Amino acid sequence: MSLDLSSTSNDFTGKATAPVRARIAPSPTGDPHVGTAYIGLLNYVFAQQRGGAFVLRIEDTDRTRFVSTSEQMIFDSLRWVGLQWNEGPDVGGPYGPYRQSERTEIYREYCQILLDNGSAYRAFETAEELDAERKAQMAAKQAPKYAGPSRNYTPEQAAEALAAGKPYTIRLKVPDGDKGPGIASTTFTDELRGEITFDHNNVDDQVLLKSDGFPTYHLANVVDDHLMRITDVIRAEEWISSTPKHVLLYRAFGWELPRFWHMPLLRNIDKSKISKRKNPVSLIYYRQAGFLPQAMLNFLGLMGGGMAQPTEQEIVSQGLDTKLADLFSLADMFERFDFKRISLGGPVFDLVKLKWLNGEYLRRLSADELFAALRTTVLSDDYLRSIVPLVQTRMETLGQFGDLTGFFFADDVMPPMDVFLPKKRTLEETMEFAVNMLAALEACDWTVEAMDAALRGLLEAAGWSVKEAFMLLRAVLTGRTASPPLLESLEVFGKARSIDRLRRFIEAQKKIAALAGRNK
Ligand code: GLU
Repeated sequence: MSLDLSSTSNDFTGKATAPVRARIAPSPTGDPHVGTAYIGLLNYVFAQQRGGAFVLRIEDTDRTRFVSTSEQMIFDSLRWVGLQWNEGPDVGGPYGPYRQSERTEIYREYCQILLDNGSAYRAFETAEELDAERKAQMAAKQAPKYAGPSRNYTPEQAAEALAAGKPYTIRLKVPDGDKGPGIASTTFTDELRGEITFDHNNVDDQVLLKSDGFPTYHLANVVDDHLMRITDVIRAEEWISSTPKHVLLYRAFGWELPRFWHMPLLRNIDKSKISKRKNPVSLIYYRQAGFLPQAMLNFLGLMGGGMAQPTEQEIVSQGLDTKLADLFSLADMFERFDFKRISLGGPVFDLVKLKWLNGEYLRRLSADELFAALRTTVLSDDYLRSIVPLVQTRMETLGQFGDLTGFFFADDVMPPMDVFLPKKRTLEETMEFAVNMLAALEACDWTVEAMDAALRGLLEAAGWSVKEAFMLLRAVLTGRTASPPLLESLEVFGKARSIDRLRRFIEAQKKIAALAGRNK
């Protein structure tokens, strides 16, 4: 495949355009997601292949979902996978700041332009009024859509409400759906899917600026993509329905559109969208569980099928093992990944395949390299050091260390029923409690105090004792009835792996129950 490595890109129609600039724009709302690394990798490869820039922008304007440790985790885990950005909050660049919370003044200024040119308006409806409107629409079997009176206020009415000090949001004025061709809908080109049209009857008057003066995703995203000179917006398919709003914004500002590429979503084997209920989705998990970054990168690169595969002829003439054709490096991706090959079918995030790949990479390491890999992950000094104090008072010889701590180093621990089932509880009750425990722990900070509070919160409603709850949790974590201090052990084992262990336990019990039901 010939590559265009010049500083100007080719827009596939042969027309030279501005140097390519691609970006990812994760929101720091929790653990870094494998989907962020997948989209990040595609953007990185896209920019590299075209001699362009890859930008990392942090979209942190939703203060209700903001998690303070998340940003650093995003940087660390994307670097772990092997991504390098040319511009970003931590590396700087000519179009910063790259953190949206530091750009709020900019969004307010741009929103004023939209108010001035009539593309946006102040909406004075209260949350209660909007709620009542939404309920009435649902009752009438209509799709909920803003239809408040402020949209049609005369300038005098709007000025009056403003002077009265009424709080307001600023909304995009989506042209009415019944105003005829060219106005009734928005059409844009998706580079993978072709033209996509949205009827304006289905496009809501999006809030652009909230009453607290913070922008919504839509306004901030478009303003930044423009100001940061982004030429190609490569993001997940779930953003397609936002794109008509973005296109309307670009037009309202009189700006040139970027190219849009909506990538197929990662899916579970059953084709549902990947979610933490079925598989771990946090990059932290994969790192802590001992996946190699090069295997993870390779696996993510396989998603979507953009890698050019060897031809039948190459396979025969070079005696290639077709399965091994799936093994490639970042450099191979720069050379052979072809965006026009991407298939929209929905790539399957198949853990069996990921483990197979990881095994292939492990086998290719020398014994020294493998030792080094163990010592920086599952046998790192930090990890071992945090385990030692938990068992100091329980050992009579150093040789017992392994017996007491095996569960910290195991990938899977499946407690037998006599170990996890409290005496007075049925299996159904126990599993129901386990499911609630999973939800409570998932939502909680990973400190002993927070876990303790979360578990105690569950007890009363369920009528369980601390002893019963701890017995179950201890069994799931360690496979045994006795262990080092439980919550301290969970803290050291880490949230991502602990949650995964609990989830695997629940899934395994479900399977056993289903099998037992079938054999009845
Ligand atoms: N902040 C959005 C996210 O969390 C960015 C989506 C986009 O790329 O436009 O994924």
